[in-house]
Amino acid sequence: MSRTITGRTVVAGVAGSPVGHSLSPLIHNAWLEAAGIDGVYVAFAPGADRFDRFVEGMRGGAVRGVNVTIPFKEVALSMADKASARARGAAAANLLIFESDGTVIADNTDGIGLIGALQAQAEGFDPAAGPIAILGAGGAARGAASALVAAGCPQVRIVNRTLAKAEAVAGALAGAVVACPLTAAADAFDGVTAVINATSAGLSGSGSLDVPLAATPETAVVMDMVYKPLLTPFLAEALRLGRPTVDGLEMLVRQAIPSFEAFFGRVPPADLDVRAVALKALEA
Ligand code: NAP
Repeated sequence: MSRTITGRTVVAGVAGSPVGHSLSPLIHNAWLEAAGIDGVYVAFAPGADRFDRFVEGMRGGAVRGVNVTIPFKEVALSMADKASARARGAAAANLLIFESDGTVIADNTDGIGLIGALQAQAEGFDPAAGPIAILGAGGAARGAASALVAAGCPQVRIVNRTLAKAEAVAGALAGAVVACPLTAAADAFDGVTAVINATSAGLSGSGSLDVPLAATPETAVVMDMVYKPLLTPFLAEALRLGRPTVDGLEMLVRQAIPSFEAFFGRVPPADLDVRAVALKALEA
């Protein structure tokens, strides 16, 4: 990297705890360098109980904005003065923009990343074509459910180990979202167009999910939000069954596109294969 930091360099970043594993600095700085933009993207690791002070400090306008990751997405939304409908629907923000007058604006681009990944890797995928099952009931699952309902999905089935959490998500989103226990996953998979793993199972080799993927229709798309490893045991089982698959890295890259635009005022350069850059880092 041979960029020069100047008096006009626009600073953006990602805030999380921990944050050292994040691929976002790699992705955004690769785009900045390829586009010749005078900007830099760094990682911030505020103390787990000091995110509110971190955001208050940013009201000075020193930094253009930050992406927000675990565990700060919910508190990030609560700190904002204004929030997009996407962020309110997800009850979480993965993007904060710090205006020069001190205003903090929250957005959530995870849903754009999710649907963009499905459409990029599962050709012709239409979120409105039928019911979709989401495994998990944490922040990622709620954000996904909210985005899929907004995209016209007729029914989202939240399938979770702890049923009460699935019911809370379904209750908050109402209407097209229903809750199911993980033990009834086979019933929840009946007739779905997609199954999305939004649990943290499979992350960095942690316990895999034991669900009957064979109960999905043969055409059902199987997606895993976990991208480390890229080929999770969940996706490996889907491939074994011959299901079309979508990986979590594609979602990560696609949620970064609108964030980059919000920070630097330009779309990322299309001629850089940023997925290949991220894959190289994942494999290292
Ligand atoms: P979270 O709030 O901690 O929720 C975790 C969920 O996983 C809970 O519903 C939990 O069930 C379930 N779970 C964990 N281990 C399980 C197991 N062994 N069997 C069954 N269920 C299990 O996490 P989150 O913020 O929603 O994130 C979920 C995952 O999505 C993470 O791996 C995160 O990295 C990933 N993610 C990826 C992207 C991307 O761009 N690719 C974006 C956002 C999130 P209980 O309720 O029963 O505990």
